[in-house]
Amino acid sequence: MKIPPTLSVVLSNLLKKPATNPFPHTDPVPTPEGFRGKVVYHVDKCIGCKLCVTVCPAGVFEYVEEIKKVTLWLGRCVFCQQCVDVCPTNALEMSNEFLLATYDKYDDNLRWLKDEEIEELRAKQGGKT
Ligand code: SF4
Ligand code: SF4
Repeated sequence: MKIPPTLSVVLSNLLKKPATNPFPHTDPVPTPEGFRGKVVYHVDKCIGCKLCVTVCPAGVFEYVEEIKKVTLWLGRCVFCQQCVDVCPTNALEMSNEFLLATYDKYDDNLRWLKDEEIEELRAKQGGKT
């Protein structure tokens, strides 16, 4: 009797190792170069030009006039990278962090510049003038 082609493939696959990555028991599949993960904000490099506020399609940024910086809430981010491309001082960059699931949508990991940090900057800048 002739073995059907599908059956011969199935039988040969039974002898091969599984091709799956059993995460979380192993590391995730490595991210490629240019991967668009969590946006990182380098506050000290920011000059408060507001270009990121203008270009972001998801309303992630809020400009804080008193300290001339921005805040980010990444719960809205669609990882399009437009803010990174437009920032003139490289204050924004895409990292390769993608394990961002959380029980709290305002989790600290999804925010840049929290209230206390804004207060700190305000105090510092106030001290200079
Ligand atoms: S990656 Fe896109 S959606 Fe996310 S903060 Fe930047 S501009 Fe906004
Ligand atoms: S585009 Fe860059 S420098 Fe301008 S406000 Fe945004 S983060 Fe700051």
